[in-house]
Amino acid sequence: MSIVRTYAFVLKAIRFGDTSVIYRLFTRDQGVVPVMARGVRRPKSRFGGVLEPFRHLQVIYYSRDNRDIQTLSGAELVTTYSAITESLERMEAGGRWFRLLRAVLPDRAPAVTMFDLVPVALDRLCRTPVARTSRWETFHRAAAVAHLGVSPELTMCVACGRPVDGSETPSFSIVDGGVVCSQCRRERTGCRSLSPAEYALLNLYHHPDYELLEQLDENANGDAKVRDLVREFVRYHADLRPGAA
Ligand SMILES: [Zn+2]
Repeated sequence: MSIVRTYAFVLKAIRFGDTSVIYRLFTRDQGVVPVMARGVRRPKSRFGGVLEPFRHLQVIYYSRDNRDIQTLSGAELVTTYSAITESLERMEAGGRWFRLLRAVLPDRAPAVTMFDLVPVALDRLCRTPVARTSRWETFHRAAAVAHLGVSPELTMCVACGRPVDGSETPSFSIVDGGVVCSQCRRERTGCRSLSPAEYALLNLYHHPDYELLEQLDENANGDAKVRDLVREFVRYHADLRPGAA
Protein backbone atom coordinates (compact mmCIF):
# COMPACT_ATOMS: atom_id res chain seq x y z
CA MET A 1 0.00 0.00 0.00
CA SER A 2 1.23 3.49 -0.76
CA ILE A 3 0.07 6.97 0.15
CA VAL A 4 -0.45 9.19 -2.86
CA ARG A 5 -0.62 12.97 -2.61
CA THR A 6 -1.53 14.64 -5.89
CA TYR A 7 -3.77 17.18 -7.61
CA ALA A 8 -7.20 16.17 -8.88
CA PHE A 9 -10.55 17.12 -10.40
CA VAL A 10 -13.81 15.27 -9.73
CA LEU A 11 -15.11 13.68 -12.96
CA LYS A 12 -18.08 11.84 -11.47
CA ALA A 13 -19.66 11.08 -8.08
CA ILE A 14 -21.78 8.04 -7.16
CA ARG A 15 -23.47 7.84 -3.77
CA PHE A 16 -22.57 4.75 -1.78
CA GLY A 17 -24.48 3.61 1.31
CA ASP A 18 -25.92 6.24 3.64
CA THR A 19 -22.98 8.60 4.00
CA SER A 20 -20.24 7.70 1.50
CA VAL A 21 -19.50 8.62 -2.13
CA ILE A 22 -17.32 6.97 -4.78
CA TYR A 23 -15.59 9.62 -6.86
CA ARG A 24 -13.93 9.16 -10.20
CA LEU A 25 -10.98 11.51 -9.87
CA PHE A 26 -8.77 12.74 -12.68
CA THR A 27 -5.46 12.94 -10.85
CA ARG A 28 -2.28 14.56 -12.09
CA ASP A 29 0.04 11.69 -11.16
CA GLN A 30 -2.06 8.57 -11.81
CA GLY A 31 -4.72 9.61 -14.34
CA VAL A 32 -8.26 8.45 -13.61
CA VAL A 33 -8.58 6.87 -10.14
CA PRO A 34 -11.84 5.82 -8.45
CA VAL A 35 -11.76 6.58 -4.72
CA MET A 36 -14.14 5.99 -1.83
CA ALA A 37 -14.77 8.94 0.51
CA ARG A 38 -16.25 7.43 3.67
CA GLY A 39 -18.65 9.62 5.58
CA VAL A 40 -18.38 12.50 3.11
CA ARG A 41 -22.13 13.18 3.27
CA ARG A 42 -22.13 13.56 7.05
CA PRO A 43 -22.66 17.18 8.16
CA LYS A 44 -19.28 17.39 9.86
CA SER A 45 -17.28 15.38 7.35
CA ARG A 46 -13.50 15.89 7.39
CA PHE A 47 -13.65 16.52 3.64
CA GLY A 48 -15.44 19.80 4.35
CA GLY A 49 -17.61 19.84 1.24
CA VAL A 50 -14.76 20.54 -1.19
CA LEU A 51 -15.36 17.48 -3.40
CA GLU A 52 -17.37 19.13 -6.16
CA PRO A 53 -16.90 19.40 -9.92
CA PHE A 54 -14.97 22.38 -11.36
CA ARG A 55 -12.65 22.54 -8.38
CA HIS A 56 -8.92 22.10 -8.46
CA LEU A 57 -8.13 19.91 -5.46
CA GLN A 58 -5.17 18.47 -3.67
CA VAL A 59 -5.99 14.95 -2.51
CA ILE A 60 -4.42 12.20 -0.43
CA TYR A 61 -5.45 8.58 -0.88
CA TYR A 62 -4.24 5.11 0.05
CA SER A 63 -3.49 3.11 -3.07
CA ARG A 64 -3.36 -0.64 -3.43
CA ASP A 65 -2.59 -2.28 -6.77
CA ASN A 66 -5.02 -5.16 -6.22
CA ARG A 67 -7.96 -2.81 -5.56
CA ASP A 68 -10.18 -1.07 -8.11
CA ILE A 69 -11.37 1.61 -5.69
CA GLN A 70 -8.84 3.40 -3.50
CA THR A 71 -9.51 5.04 -0.14
CA LEU A 72 -9.58 8.83 -0.01
CA SER A 73 -8.08 10.20 3.16
CA GLY A 74 -8.02 13.98 2.57
CA ALA A 75 -8.97 16.70 0.10
CA GLU A 76 -8.14 20.40 0.07
CA LEU A 77 -9.27 23.15 -2.22
CA VAL A 78 -6.63 24.68 -4.52
CA THR A 79 -8.86 26.78 -6.78
CA THR A 80 -12.59 27.15 -7.19
CA TYR A 81 -14.03 28.32 -10.52
CA SER A 82 -17.20 29.94 -9.25
CA ALA A 83 -17.93 31.85 -12.50
CA ILE A 84 -18.68 28.43 -14.04
CA THR A 85 -21.22 27.29 -11.46
CA GLU A 86 -22.89 30.72 -11.51
CA SER A 87 -23.86 30.38 -15.18
CA LEU A 88 -25.98 27.56 -16.61
CA GLU A 89 -24.38 27.90 -20.07
CA ARG A 90 -20.84 27.69 -18.71
CA MET A 91 -21.76 24.80 -16.42
CA GLU A 92 -23.31 22.83 -19.29
CA ALA A 93 -20.33 23.46 -21.59
CA GLY A 94 -17.91 22.51 -18.80
CA GLY A 95 -19.98 19.44 -17.92
CA ARG A 96 -19.96 18.19 -21.51
CA TRP A 97 -16.21 18.75 -21.68
CA PHE A 98 -15.69 16.75 -18.47
CA ARG A 99 -17.80 13.93 -19.96
CA LEU A 100 -15.48 13.92 -22.96
CA LEU A 101 -12.46 13.66 -20.64
CA ARG A 102 -14.13 10.80 -18.79
CA ALA A 103 -14.77 9.00 -22.08
CA VAL A 104 -11.27 9.30 -23.52
CA LEU A 105 -9.02 8.96 -20.47
CA PRO A 106 -7.83 5.45 -19.66
CA ASP A 107 -7.87 4.27 -16.02
CA ARG A 108 -4.69 4.53 -13.94
CA ALA A 109 -2.53 5.86 -16.77
CA PRO A 110 -0.74 9.16 -16.18
CA ALA A 111 -1.89 11.95 -18.48
CA VAL A 112 0.03 14.91 -17.10
CA THR A 113 -0.15 17.27 -20.08
CA MET A 114 -3.86 16.62 -20.39
CA PHE A 115 -4.31 17.21 -16.67
CA ASP A 116 -2.48 20.52 -16.92
CA LEU A 117 -4.90 21.61 -19.63
CA VAL A 118 -7.83 21.41 -17.18
CA PRO A 119 -7.07 24.39 -14.87
CA VAL A 120 -6.11 26.48 -17.92
CA ALA A 121 -9.33 25.56 -19.72
CA LEU A 122 -11.54 26.19 -16.67
CA ASP A 123 -9.89 29.54 -16.06
CA ARG A 124 -10.67 30.50 -19.67
CA LEU A 125 -14.25 29.28 -19.31
CA CYS A 126 -14.72 31.62 -16.34
CA ARG A 127 -13.75 34.55 -18.59
CA THR A 128 -15.76 33.36 -21.61
CA PRO A 129 -18.89 35.40 -22.38
CA VAL A 130 -21.99 33.19 -22.39
CA ALA A 131 -22.45 33.68 -26.17
CA ARG A 132 -19.04 32.11 -26.78
CA THR A 133 -19.21 28.97 -24.62
CA SER A 134 -19.76 26.79 -27.69
CA ARG A 135 -16.51 28.08 -29.17
CA TRP A 136 -14.71 27.44 -25.86
CA GLU A 137 -16.08 23.90 -25.75
CA THR A 138 -15.18 23.05 -29.35
CA PHE A 139 -11.62 24.35 -29.03
CA HIS A 140 -11.00 22.43 -25.80
CA ARG A 141 -12.51 19.19 -27.11
CA ALA A 142 -9.98 19.35 -29.93
CA ALA A 143 -7.19 20.34 -27.51
CA ALA A 144 -7.98 17.46 -25.12
CA VAL A 145 -7.87 14.73 -27.77
CA ALA A 146 -4.78 16.30 -29.36
CA HIS A 147 -2.97 15.27 -26.14
CA LEU A 148 -3.91 11.69 -27.02
CA GLY A 149 -2.45 12.08 -30.51
CA VAL A 150 -5.74 12.78 -32.28
CA SER A 151 -5.45 15.83 -34.53
CA PRO A 152 -6.26 16.42 -38.19
CA GLU A 153 -3.74 16.88 -41.00
CA LEU A 154 -4.25 20.44 -42.18
CA THR A 155 -1.07 21.23 -44.11
CA MET A 156 -0.94 18.48 -46.74
CA CYS A 157 -3.42 16.39 -48.68
CA VAL A 158 -4.16 13.16 -46.76
CA ALA A 159 -4.48 11.27 -50.07
CA CYS A 160 -1.42 12.34 -52.10
CA GLY A 161 0.74 14.19 -49.56
CA ARG A 162 0.93 17.37 -51.65
CA PRO A 163 1.36 20.47 -49.43
CA VAL A 164 -1.68 22.68 -49.18
CA ASP A 165 -0.16 26.09 -49.68
CA GLY A 166 -2.94 28.62 -49.98
CA SER A 167 -3.03 28.64 -53.80
CA GLU A 168 -6.19 26.54 -53.49
CA THR A 169 -8.70 26.01 -50.70
CA PRO A 170 -8.72 22.34 -49.75
CA SER A 171 -11.72 20.20 -48.80
CA PHE A 172 -11.95 18.34 -45.50
CA SER A 173 -12.53 14.63 -45.00
CA ILE A 174 -13.62 13.52 -41.51
CA VAL A 175 -12.98 9.83 -42.22
CA ASP A 176 -9.52 10.39 -43.72
CA GLY A 177 -8.66 12.79 -40.90
CA GLY A 178 -7.61 15.91 -42.78
CA VAL A 179 -7.58 18.10 -45.84
CA VAL A 180 -7.88 16.79 -49.40
CA CYS A 181 -6.56 18.66 -52.47
CA SER A 182 -8.85 19.55 -55.37
CA GLN A 183 -7.45 16.78 -57.58
CA CYS A 184 -7.85 13.96 -55.06
CA ARG A 185 -11.24 15.27 -54.10
CA ARG A 186 -12.66 14.18 -57.47
CA GLU A 187 -12.02 10.52 -56.60
CA ARG A 188 -13.34 10.67 -53.05
CA THR A 189 -16.79 10.86 -51.54
CA GLY A 190 -17.81 12.56 -48.32
CA CYS A 191 -15.43 15.54 -48.57
CA ARG A 192 -16.72 18.87 -47.29
CA SER A 193 -15.91 22.03 -49.22
CA LEU A 194 -14.29 24.84 -47.26
CA SER A 195 -14.23 28.53 -48.06
CA PRO A 196 -10.90 30.30 -47.40
CA ALA A 197 -12.42 31.78 -44.20
CA GLU A 198 -13.59 28.34 -43.02
CA TYR A 199 -10.18 26.80 -43.71
CA ALA A 200 -8.54 29.60 -41.70
CA LEU A 201 -10.99 29.02 -38.83
CA LEU A 202 -10.39 25.26 -38.87
CA ASN A 203 -6.69 26.01 -38.40
CA LEU A 204 -7.49 28.23 -35.42
CA TYR A 205 -9.58 25.53 -33.73
CA HIS A 206 -6.67 23.11 -33.99
CA HIS A 207 -4.00 25.66 -33.09
CA PRO A 208 -2.41 25.53 -29.62
CA ASP A 209 -3.00 29.26 -29.10
CA TYR A 210 -6.57 29.88 -27.89
CA GLU A 211 -6.06 33.65 -27.74
CA LEU A 212 -6.16 33.90 -31.56
CA LEU A 213 -9.63 32.38 -31.57
CA GLU A 214 -10.76 34.52 -28.64
CA GLN A 215 -10.05 37.67 -30.62
CA LEU A 216 -12.47 36.72 -33.40
CA ASP A 217 -15.98 38.06 -33.54
CA GLU A 218 -18.48 35.43 -32.40
CA ASN A 219 -20.39 35.83 -35.66
CA ALA A 220 -17.30 35.08 -37.75
CA ASN A 221 -18.22 33.71 -41.14
CA GLY A 222 -18.60 29.92 -41.11
CA ASP A 223 -17.92 29.53 -37.38
CA ALA A 224 -20.94 27.29 -36.70
CA LYS A 225 -20.11 25.03 -39.67
CA VAL A 226 -16.45 24.72 -38.61
CA ARG A 227 -17.45 23.97 -35.00
CA ASP A 228 -19.61 21.11 -36.31
CA LEU A 229 -16.70 19.78 -38.39
CA VAL A 230 -14.32 19.88 -35.41
CA ARG A 231 -16.82 18.11 -33.14
CA GLU A 232 -17.53 15.47 -35.77
CA PHE A 233 -13.80 14.92 -36.26
CA VAL A 234 -13.25 14.50 -32.49
CA ARG A 235 -16.23 12.16 -32.12
CA TYR A 236 -15.11 9.98 -35.02
CA HIS A 237 -11.40 9.75 -34.23
CA ALA A 238 -11.52 9.68 -30.43
CA ASP A 239 -13.93 6.75 -30.83
CA LEU A 240 -16.56 8.21 -28.50
CA ARG A 241 -19.47 6.19 -27.20
CA PRO A 242 -22.93 7.58 -27.89
CA GLY A 243 -23.76 10.14 -25.20
CA ALA A 244 -20.13 11.01 -24.54
CA ALA A 245 -20.10 13.56 -27.33
ZN1 LIG B 1 -4.18 15.17 -53.07
